[in-house]
Amino acid sequence: MAETQQKKKVSGSVVITAERCKGCSFCVEFCPTDALKLSDQYNAKGYHPPVLVSQDLCNGCNICGLMCPDFAVYGFMFKKKEK
Ligand code: SF4
Ligand code: SF4
Repeated sequence: MAETQQKKKVSGSVVITAERCKGCSFCVEFCPTDALKLSDQYNAKGYHPPVLVSQDLCNGCNICGLMCPDFAVYGFMFKKKEK
């Protein structure tokens, strides 16, 4: 059987609801891969919500979601196809 040229790899990303965020930075501080930083932008409440530093850094572990007191962020995993 011929070996496939594509490898499946689990990657991760986050969903951020910026308007819920109060800028506490827990998600940034507890992310094990330093995938998040606080944005320079303000939300309607005057806080800086998080943004991904790099998609490649996120593994979808959802520690950010577990730490967020306002349910403003969560992480998820997905299968990524690589050539
Ligand atoms: S899902 Fe995990 S790796 Fe991704 S931003 Fe959240 S804490 Fe960091
Ligand atoms: S933990 Fe939640 S409320 Fe705190 S900065 Fe992150 S997204 Fe905003």
